[in-house]
Amino acid sequence: MSTAPVIELRAAGLTYPGPPAVHALRPCGLTVGRGEYVTVVGPSGAGKSTFLNIIGLLDVPTTGRYLLDGFDVATVSDRHRTALRGTRIGFVFQSFHLLEHRSARENVELAMVYQHVGRRERRRRAVEALHRVGLAHRVEAIPSRLSGGERQRVAIARALAAEPSLLLCDEPTGNLDSRTAAAVLDLFDDLHRDGMTIIMITHDPQVALRAQRTVRISDGVLTETRATAEGTVIA
Ligand code: ADP
Repeated sequence: MSTAPVIELRAAGLTYPGPPAVHALRPCGLTVGRGEYVTVVGPSGAGKSTFLNIIGLLDVPTTGRYLLDGFDVATVSDRHRTALRGTRIGFVFQSFHLLEHRSARENVELAMVYQHVGRRERRRRAVEALHRVGLAHRVEAIPSRLSGGERQRVAIARALAAEPSLLLCDEPTGNLDSRTAAAVLDLFDDLHRDGMTIIMITHDPQVALRAQRTVRISDGVLTETRATAEGTVIA
C-alpha cells in the first residue's frame, strides 16, 4: 500500500472559463491521510460539487495539483485516470443508483466488471462486502424488496467491493429517515474504525460532527473548521 497521503491538494482550484469566468473553487491546500474521516460542509452553490468532482477524478483542477495516492492526476492519461477512479475511489451518493432488476449481489459484482476481477472472485468479494454492511441475509434480494437503508447499504457494499483507497460520499443519508440515517452513519463509523478513509459532503451539522475533521467551502473558499452542534466554527 502507498505511504503517500490518500489526498493531497496543492494550491488546487477550478475556474469555469465562461464568460463570465466562475471561480468555483479558489486555489486551496488539503491533505487527507490514510484512515482519516473528513466531512465537507457549505451552502448550496459554494463549490462542494466542484470539490467532489475534483477529488473523484471527474474533473481536473484548472490550477495547482491534485495527487491521489501520490499520483498526479493531471499528468496521467484519461484512460489511466478512469482506471484510478474505478479502483481507488468508492462513490456513495444520496440516491442509490442500483439496477432494479439485479440482485444485491449482482449490483455489487457489476462494480468490479471493469477491474479484470474473475467471476468467482467477483462473487466472493460481493458476498463479503454485503456481509460487511450487515446484509448477509439479503444477498439475493432485488432492490425493490429492500428498504431505503438496505439499498444504501448495497450501494456502500458496491463502493467497498473494489477495495478503494477512499470512500467519497455525497449526502449519503439525504434520502433516509433519521433512524435509518443514524444506523448508516454508524456503519461509516465502523468502516472508519477499520481504517477506511472517508470524505463525506453533508449539509447537516450533526452528521459533520461525526468526523474527526470538517472542512467548510464558502464562495469557493475552502477552510478547515471545528464542527459544533449548531453549525461550524472557523478554526
Ligand atoms: P455546490 O455543490 O456547493 O452547490 P457547485 O460546485 O455546484 O456548488 O457550484 C459552484 C459554483 O460554480 C456555482 O456558482 C455554480 O453556479 C458554478 N458552476 C458549477 N458548474 C458550472 C459549469 N459547468 N459552468 C459554469 N459554472 C458552473
